[in-house]
Amino acid sequence: MAEYIGNIHIHSSYSDGHNSIEEIASIAAQCGLDFIIITDHGTLKGQQRQGYQKGVLVLVGMEVNDYANHYLAMDVRRVIAANTGRPQQVIDEVNRQGGFGIIAHPFEKGSPLYKKSKTYPWLDWNVTGFQGIEIWNFLSQWRDGIKGFFTGVWLLLNPAGSLVGPYPEVMAKLDEYHIQGKPVMLYGGSDAHGASVKIGIFRLRISPYDLCFKMINVHVITASALKGNERKDRETVYSALRRGRSWVACDYYQNSRGFRFEIRNEQQAWLPGDKAEYQEGMYLYVYTPFPARATIIKNGQIARVSYGKKHILRNITEGVYRIEVHIRHHLTYRPWIFSNPIWVQ
Ligand SMILES: [Zn+2]
Ligand SMILES: [Zn+2]
Repeated sequence: MAEYIGNIHIHSSYSDGHNSIEEIASIAAQCGLDFIIITDHGTLKGQQRQGYQKGVLVLVGMEVNDYANHYLAMDVRRVIAANTGRPQQVIDEVNRQGGFGIIAHPFEKGSPLYKKSKTYPWLDWNVTGFQGIEIWNFLSQWRDGIKGFFTGVWLLLNPAGSLVGPYPEVMAKLDEYHIQGKPVMLYGGSDAHGASVKIGIFRLRISPYDLCFKMINVHVITASALKGNERKDRETVYSALRRGRSWVACDYYQNSRGFRFEIRNEQQAWLPGDKAEYQEGMYLYVYTPFPARATIIKNGQIARVSYGKKHILRNITEGVYRIEVHIRHHLTYRPWIFSNPIWVQ
């Protein structure tokens, strides 16, 4: 098994992003990413640029949207038309193409300084067949944090200050699906555009790619190591993402590489996204690469809070388990890692 770090919600100059895919890939390489997924609005033109660039595996999906109900379509071949009124049709079309999809920034709050608090939330929760939900979106949360002029200046100078973690309503929504046994996985995105705003004579870059690639990343655990072969590696990464063999991390304060969450017995270990059959003596194992505060959540409730690098819960019973980790930064704990769940049934 191997771990790879990616950033999976990125806009290039094929839609409203600032840089070309080649430029974005070289920034990703400098930031230590293994793969990126470009998700331009309403186009798959970037697929001509799919493949390895500067050692980074570049994959291209798309963001399907006109107004609300933004949906990230992954592993698709043909452009999918937006349909705000009937998001189920968008989800079904992604599935028909053999792809998978992620509900994007579902609960954003908006900022009075951006288009009078305009938001692009997910409005229809009767839909089915989607693979996951974007629990944490850097650009969206950064904008939500700008409540007025002073917070705006503060967050331009200190963008990480906006990262308060996934909103409670999105985690409650996921817990609801997980308790019902539904494999709805959690993902995170930077929504990097590399855009800039003009304030007087100054031009300030918001969501620059190099900053975004240290913000909300997705780490995947793959069954085998990537081989440098574009087609095979694309399948390997997409398959880990589909299965939820992954976690969302804000790698800004410390890189979460090396984090592990497993349910184990004497013979076997189950990983995020897995469903394990209950046996006596099973235990939960979490390793964080730096000392941190790990919260073990069972069926949507806190089962244990533990400090350090190794976190173990013995003799677990049936239920669905997921992990949230916070890391110490100055006098506070900052949200760091949010893992996909493991079911014990
Ligand atoms: Zn969007
Ligand atoms: Zn976007």
